[in-house]
Amino acid sequence: MILRVILALLIAVHSSCQEHGAFKVFRVLPTTNQQLLQMIRLFETADTDRADFWHAPSVVNGTVDIMVAPEHTDQFRQYLEKHGYTFQVAIDDLHKLLIEKEGNLSTHSNDDAFFLKRLHDDVGFHSRLRMGEYYSYSVLSTWLERIAENMPDIAKLIKVGTTIEGRDILGLKFGKDTPDKKIVVIDAGIHAREWAAIHTASYFINLIVNGREEDPQIQNYLDNIVLYIIPVLNPDGYEYTRTDKTNPRARMWRKSRSPKACAFDGVRNSCCMGVDLNRNFDFRFSEIGASRYPCSEIYHGPSAFSEPESKAYSQFLTSLKGRLEAYITLHSYSQLWIYSYSHRKFTYAPDIEETRRVAAKAVQELGRMYGTKYRHGTGPEIIYAFSGGSTDWAKETLKIKYSYTIELRPGYEGIIEWNGFVLDKNQLIPTAKETWAGVTVVLDEVTNQWKSSRVRESELSRLRQEKCSDRLPGCAYWLQSSPNICRFSQSTMVRDCAKTCNLCHMIAV
Ligand SMILES: [Zn+2]
Repeated sequence: MILRVILALLIAVHSSCQEHGAFKVFRVLPTTNQQLLQMIRLFETADTDRADFWHAPSVVNGTVDIMVAPEHTDQFRQYLEKHGYTFQVAIDDLHKLLIEKEGNLSTHSNDDAFFLKRLHDDVGFHSRLRMGEYYSYSVLSTWLERIAENMPDIAKLIKVGTTIEGRDILGLKFGKDTPDKKIVVIDAGIHAREWAAIHTASYFINLIVNGREEDPQIQNYLDNIVLYIIPVLNPDGYEYTRTDKTNPRARMWRKSRSPKACAFDGVRNSCCMGVDLNRNFDFRFSEIGASRYPCSEIYHGPSAFSEPESKAYSQFLTSLKGRLEAYITLHSYSQLWIYSYSHRKFTYAPDIEETRRVAAKAVQELGRMYGTKYRHGTGPEIIYAFSGGSTDWAKETLKIKYSYTIELRPGYEGIIEWNGFVLDKNQLIPTAKETWAGVTVVLDEVTNQWKSSRVRESELSRLRQEKCSDRLPGCAYWLQSSPNICRFSQSTMVRDCAKTCNLCHMIAV
């Protein structure tokens, strides 16, 4: 009932379509269980055009950030007051803020042409993209192609799949691939508006490509693991956020750009484009923290893997099964290091202790650089319960050891100027640097475990060779009279005639 009132209220005002005031971001603090439940229901049912949740409700006295369109701000404020919510306006004029913070960024097609020309014409790979900037998907894609062309020894271009609008989802594969090496996959940009995450993944690529000669740690990764980085998983959505960069409706788009779907929301039949790809994975699909309403920002889509982007990505990750040791997906914001499972509290994978140990170490390492404070835990422990996400699916289906969702800056503590998704440009590189410091903890674990397993293997092999002998004297004679005896009676022959049967590698040491 309460929900219907909220929706009716918002729709009534919407129909008048008066553009007055500005897009605002409200910071709401639910202080009772009832208020929290009310916020959660609104989160799961609200039309993004009216109430766009930047930070979802999680616990009583936990912050909720909601962007509200100009024509709804008065009513929304009245609603909050009427129900006794504690709240403040965190961003008073988002349009103005976007002009201030991102208005001068290179988002024009002319700049695109400039960067594309530079990437094409620069000989000998001098086309380092300057970090601390945002680029179009065509510039980023061309950059990846140029890296692969110019540095075939360290990087290969990979195509994960094709989006609904026909864009290639591209990434790079680093390191020489051999069948015994472990694989790490890092992605970003499954949510279109999370530009800081896309920048961070691009920064990682730039660091590996241009910093490997000075940094032995990077060279160590290239030698010992295979690392995939896919900087923009949802390029259609990302390009949409760049179409009208100072318009909050476009810039704050989160989902893919799949065609309109409709559903009756209790008041009317609403039709909207896009699916939240990070609710579309086949893990407890549609159970919690996801919406069946296409106009919701967390719309999960008609069925699990209904979207070409998530389906292709799941197939790509599945093709690495068995060797895929770590999977990290970059999001923003909240400064969190999240692990499985996120659909229900106290639901963990069997290796939770190890998952938690490495997360704690990563968060500590990340904080060492600039003092940025991260929290770690499962979704319901530190943010909110949700299902259909990529890392939970990967953890459950592919049995990946380290599967993490990282929510980058900003957080809430000690922030002088808080702008949510509109991260100040001068914070982009520090954000990427500290995140890399955290990610290296995971990369080091994978690398060191692989190295020590190789050392163990070679030590075992040496011991086996040393200990390998025939326990009985007649082995040669038996083999001569029965040539298949080693194969057919293998366990007996490992015990009695290991040397003659060439079964030294199987003896217990
Ligand atoms: Zn996200």
